[in-house]
Amino acid sequence: MSCHRALIFFHVAYLCFAAIRPTRGADTPAVNESTQVKLIMVGDIMVAKDEETGIQIEQGKDPFQAFAEIFKAADVSIGNLECVIAEKGVAEEKPYTFLAHPRVVPLLKQHFTGLSVANNHSCDFGKPAFVEQCERLEKAQIPYFGGGRDLAAAHRPWIIERNGLKIAMLGYCEVFMKSFQAQDNEAGVAWSENDERVLADIQSAKKIADVVIPYMHWGWESEPANDRQKQFARKMIDAGADVIVGSHPHVTQEVEYYQGHLIVYSLGNFVFNGFESEATQTGWALQMTLDKQGVVKWDTLVARLDPQGAPHPDLQAKSPCGKRGDTTILMQDHMVQTPSSIEAR
Ligand SMILES: [Zn+2]
Repeated sequence: MSCHRALIFFHVAYLCFAAIRPTRGADTPAVNESTQVKLIMVGDIMVAKDEETGIQIEQGKDPFQAFAEIFKAADVSIGNLECVIAEKGVAEEKPYTFLAHPRVVPLLKQHFTGLSVANNHSCDFGKPAFVEQCERLEKAQIPYFGGGRDLAAAHRPWIIERNGLKIAMLGYCEVFMKSFQAQDNEAGVAWSENDERVLADIQSAKKIADVVIPYMHWGWESEPANDRQKQFARKMIDAGADVIVGSHPHVTQEVEYYQGHLIVYSLGNFVFNGFESEATQTGWALQMTLDKQGVVKWDTLVARLDPQGAPHPDLQAKSPCGKRGDTTILMQDHMVQTPSSIEAR
């Protein structure tokens, strides 16, 4: 090969290499599938032993079964545990108290990568029962967030690392009873009425993680998102949160973008009996593909709760979805994300 021809060969080879090499730079981020993570989040999970959901589990049934494959197709699955798993405890004086039998732990372990405990039922049977739950989840190696043995633990993010991407999950409750909140030297949940503390948590989490997701327990039951939720969601995004997700109202609420960031105010119920209206028996499984810049694309898969409180995917239902760069929320029907179909949409 002459020098000239060799030069042409290397030049062509370089052009080919340059064409397939990912372009780096702030404006043109590399498309690197290996740094993407598929995260699925669901709403409230109530599996109390005296309720239909807990009785079904006692009889050997698995209320999560219809979603098992969908969870498996994700890298990370997260729900809100809306009860307390303990054998001992005294019920608080409040309208509803939910005590779950420890037999639910293996089922939660089977289906969930981690759980939020920041809600208005975590301390239904007192702080000692909540600490017992912490011990049981730790023994089963189920990470949890939004609550802990003291204030610092309750506010500490759960950092998940998958495919080189670091995700920080924070959990907060601002729904009655306030006595559930953790103190300096007392167990409990992370409380979000102290907005500055939450915003500081988000700023700290953003220094150690690529994506920060606060999972909020907030809003009024069976109502659209209120002004407090809307204002605080914006503040959290301004502080560095990438996505805001919520639950508690027993219904799904609005979805919107703020500064390009996704806000899903309420995922609604996921495993919960005792409801009869279509709105309260409909939840969403929020499926998100994440990378270092946040949400690449997202989808809400509709879950219809049966009379026993177990969810079933409804693939015909239209519900919100979207992708990076969208400015309006799309409504579409759905496909189950299995490993083979996960990129189809
Ligand atoms: Zn709640």
